[in-house]
Amino acid sequence: MKFAIQTRNDDYSNTLMQQAKQYLLDFGLEFDEEEPEIVLSIGGDGTFLHAFHKYAHRLDRTAFVGIHTGHLGFYADWKPSEIEKLVISIARHTYEIIEYPLLNVKVNHGDNEESTTYLALNESTIKSPGVTFVVDVNLNGRQFERFRGDGLCMSTPSGSTAYSKALNGAIIHPSFEAMQLTEMASINNRVFRTVGSPLVLPAHHHCELIPVQEGAGFVLTVDHLQLPHRAVASIEYTVAKEKIRFARFRQFPFWERVHDSFIASRTDK
Ligand code: NAP
Repeated sequence: MKFAIQTRNDDYSNTLMQQAKQYLLDFGLEFDEEEPEIVLSIGGDGTFLHAFHKYAHRLDRTAFVGIHTGHLGFYADWKPSEIEKLVISIARHTYEIIEYPLLNVKVNHGDNEESTTYLALNESTIKSPGVTFVVDVNLNGRQFERFRGDGLCMSTPSGSTAYSKALNGAIIHPSFEAMQLTEMASINNRVFRTVGSPLVLPAHHHCELIPVQEGAGFVLTVDHLQLPHRAVASIEYTVAKEKIRFARFRQFPFWERVHDSFIASRTDK
């Protein structure tokens, strides 16, 4: 089996990376950064996002595992002290694959150029760099509202514990194939009106955002990436056909991770 390792690049993560790499080589696995079947991410959830985007073109052939070298993460949910157990499990194939939904982001350009498509593990946002921006929100081909404010965030279920949570979005269990739209400081008065609540959309729905002011500047992000700014005619969001695959070696239910991350740690994981 071929493996690759992504680290946060601090001393501790790099030392663990060397240790894990040596263990895996000793067990007869092959180090291959181009076509890994399993990717170990050592660092935090931020490191995991980098690993995901590096191998997003081969999700059907790659499984991911996250080890946290700081606080417990949602993707980085293995402790460094568990590395030996993890390596043995990888070598013996005694793990199961768990799949989580992703967000498909299609950016249509105004200059008649081909649209560009991205996959998000956490979310995609569209934000004003300063002044209020205006965008039409269409659901399933019909206008739903005209949004004025700081921005909008469309998140995956597993991204619901990240940026979306800070925007008062609901925490959504990743077994739901859904995406969630949250607002950033919408203007609501007698003239301008938005729904004001997060919207949870199922897999067969689609949401299109159409910037209203021609040439108005905004920032478009996919996870940690800020997309190169080109003329944008619209952005289409759907639940992706692709999924991320996690190699799971032990049970650590989602709600326990939510509890241990946001309430108090009781499991020392
Ligand atoms: P970053 O420093 O890599 O991440 C910011 C924080 O978000 C870190 O503490 C990270 O955890 C945590 N995080 C990432 N994914 C998470 C998840 N699924 N559930 C819970 N926490 C998660 O920042 P970045 O490079 O700019 O962007 C990466 C992510 O940061 C984005 O995808 C977005 O979700 C999040 N972000 C959040 C806010 C906010 O909450 N107001 C604002 C901007 C961006 P680790 O410490 O384990 O890496």
